[in-house]
Amino acid sequence: MSFKSLGLSEPILKAILEKGYETPSPIQAKAIPPVLEGHDVLASAQTGTGKTAGFTLPMLHYLSENPKDKYRPIRALVLTPTRELAAQVFENVKEYSEYLNIRSAVIFGGVNQKPQVAKIRQGVDILVATPGRLLDLESQGLLSLKRVEMFVLDEADRMLDMGFLRDIERVMKLMPDKRQNLMFSATFSKDIKKLAYSILNNPVQVEATPENTAVEIIEQKVYRVAKGKKTGLIIKLISEGNWQQVLVFTRTKHGANKLTKKMASAGITAAAIHGNKSQGARTKALAGFKSGKIRVLVATDIAARGLDIPLLPHVINFELPNISEDYVHRIGRTGRAGAEGQAISLVSADETTYLKGIEKLIGESIEVEIVEGFEPDPNASTEPIKPGQNRNKGRGGSRSSNSRNSGGNKSSNRNRSRNRSRNRN
Ligand code: AMP
Repeated sequence: MSFKSLGLSEPILKAILEKGYETPSPIQAKAIPPVLEGHDVLASAQTGTGKTAGFTLPMLHYLSENPKDKYRPIRALVLTPTRELAAQVFENVKEYSEYLNIRSAVIFGGVNQKPQVAKIRQGVDILVATPGRLLDLESQGLLSLKRVEMFVLDEADRMLDMGFLRDIERVMKLMPDKRQNLMFSATFSKDIKKLAYSILNNPVQVEATPENTAVEIIEQKVYRVAKGKKTGLIIKLISEGNWQQVLVFTRTKHGANKLTKKMASAGITAAAIHGNKSQGARTKALAGFKSGKIRVLVATDIAARGLDIPLLPHVINFELPNISEDYVHRIGRTGRAGAEGQAISLVSADETTYLKGIEKLIGESIEVEIVEGFEPDPNASTEPIKPGQNRNKGRGGSRSSNSRNSGGNKSSNRNRSRNRSRNRN
């Protein structure tokens, strides 16, 4: 299967080639043909599957092959739950449309609307937007959705989680009835199906097998524990289990350093890898870990991404990620295809919301255990830790594992309160 055989035009193929893509990802291979044929599509796909190109490429093909009005009304609208996702989708649109006569813009809250309005005034074919700012500008008469021919609802499940249902319904009313609709969601709850039913006409359903099917064969366990007892518990588990190669994830760089030191004082050889470490230090730590000299590698999500870490018997989440998909990526580092793998998460009261989000994503509840002497604190608040929040005030580096969230809570006043506990991007 090639991009060419999907029927995409030459300028698009050229842009894809420059991006270095060789073959379409499964979701692209499945979604692009029906979108090109003009069908509504309901796609089950999460971040990392290549879903963005899955809808962007056929959208660009359609718009460029069917030019309409030289004044460029908005012909395609992509709605995303967060400003980061909006910015990411917009980047993709720009890259893939480099050799096309297509204009695009992105709008989201939390920043001055003027430059956004100026851009829209010049005429854009594709608008990528978060709901709050979109409705804001529309109600001010600064943009119109009356000529939209193609509507994409990206990460629909997160949209609902963030309380955007009413906003989506309002946006729907602003567009013509006759249009093509595409909806992407990682999960399919009853509410999502209901929403799909209300938006889509006779949709073609496509599904991407999650990149990590390992979820099913990995033994997952949650230890409920008081926050202050996590270090003691992790040392006990590693020592008593006599685990020799353990990858531990922390939320922050500072947390990674601190834990590494505590491990060392407990006689467990450990090294931290995160954004503040030089490439040399990271390579050395990784080599030591692979050769067995270092028993525990403590990493932040960002640092672990792209690292050639072998599949391991044990992955421990010292803290849960606030982005559910990151959990899947993390535990994907452990056993696959018959090899034994165990993914353990130490969960304190303030991570309860994250745990629920993860269980929803993977579609199952994770077995919970409590270890004597390391019980959870019954009086601790279940208020979630905010993304980017530093638990160790005054020390740098707290945003390391959350850089994708930076500013994520500012998308608008409306978004701000909604995003409080869940925002990922
Ligand atoms: P997405 O799921 O859309 O966020 O895409 C995940 C990542 O995969 C992005 O970094 C894309 O640039 C990349 N990507 C998308 N499609 C392909 C492809 N066909 N081949 C290689 N990489 C791709």
